[in-house]
Amino acid sequence: MLPIYRKIHLAKEKKEKIFQKSEYFSEIFQLLEELKKVINDVQKERLKTGMTNICAQCAMESKPCCGSEIENKYSVELLTINLLLGISFPRKEKNIEMCFFLTEKGCSLLARDVFCINFICEKIKSQLSPLGLKNLREFEGLQLNLQFKIEEILKKI
Ligand code: SF4
Ligand code: SF4
Repeated sequence: MLPIYRKIHLAKEKKEKIFQKSEYFSEIFQLLEELKKVINDVQKERLKTGMTNICAQCAMESKPCCGSEIENKYSVELLTINLLLGISFPRKEKNIEMCFFLTEKGCSLLARDVFCINFICEKIKSQLSPLGLKNLREFEGLQLNLQFKIEEILKKI
């Protein structure tokens, strides 16, 4: 398994290559536009359901669920997608207790691994309505689907 710093380096290299590979360029950027919209919808839905506030409160009161080593689930391709979405990765030493991508403002990523997207703790389950959760899951499904499509193209580069 590659260390996170190495994966970040490879993601930066891959991003540079995309601008040289014109046959993939337009396809990737078209899918990225769709992904941006869906991520925006997911964020709105999280606000609407109250999940954003519950997690913010949790982060202030205790340790959130973003534990150590979760960053290792991230592929070079998913990190590349984050770079293409304009994300800057944290410049810090790894805190051995927490995920590398967790900052004081929360998760620094926009395109997240299926584990991070699907994880819902008991606190959230007990406070979200079934309909709110269902709507959120639908948008998240679209996000995962688009991320997967872009990752598959990026693997060819
Ligand atoms: S998902 Fe649960 S444990 Fe994780 S930050 Fe939100 S409320 Fe806290
Ligand atoms: S949501 Fe972000 S900070 Fe939390 S575990 Fe996932 S990648 Fe790390």
